[in-house]
Amino acid sequence: MERISWNQYFMAQSHLLALRSTCTRLAVGATIVRDKRIIAGGYNGSIAGGEHCMDEGCYVIDNHCVRTIHAEMNAILQCAKFGVPTSDAEIYVTHFPCLQCCKAIIQAGIKTVYYAQDYKNHPYGIELFEKAGVKTVQVEAEKVSFDESRQEKHDFIEELMNELEKNGTNQELLKAYKEKKDKLFNP
Ligand SMILES: [Zn+2]
Ligand SMILES: [Zn+2]
Repeated sequence: MERISWNQYFMAQSHLLALRSTCTRLAVGATIVRDKRIIAGGYNGSIAGGEHCMDEGCYVIDNHCVRTIHAEMNAILQCAKFGVPTSDAEIYVTHFPCLQCCKAIIQAGIKTVYYAQDYKNHPYGIELFEKAGVKTVQVEAEKVSFDESRQEKHDFIEELMNELEKNGTNQELLKAYKEKKDKLFNP
């Protein structure tokens, strides 16, 4: 059994949160962590009780959806709402934060931004992060398997392949199958 790293674990949480996004322009998730504990999470969506972009369409002004509160802001505001300190915390985001969120992250005292993918990384945002001593770290997604019957599937395919070999299936085809199988199970 392989143990998932903290970075992969917290980033997976942000990817999961992104699936809750209601703004159709971009699905983003953010997780705030302190001392290896999740203290808040957020996703791209409208104010509580407001209409959703996915129902009403986005409210676009100057090419921005003004209805949406960004995932990072939602996570920070959740801390504000419940009085949870964000000083010296870390944030895991699915996309590099926009300029407004960069500023909010700095003001909240967050010290490290882990992000999965670049997204129109704003040069001024990067500059502000550098000035404020906020570290940015890209976290590459590893394939994490939640498949409970993975071993059974693996064994079943092996069994089928052994049968194929016994029945004289041509070697080239067998080799191609084996490569496919290895790719599936050893990413
Ligand atoms: Zn929207
Ligand atoms: Zn933002």
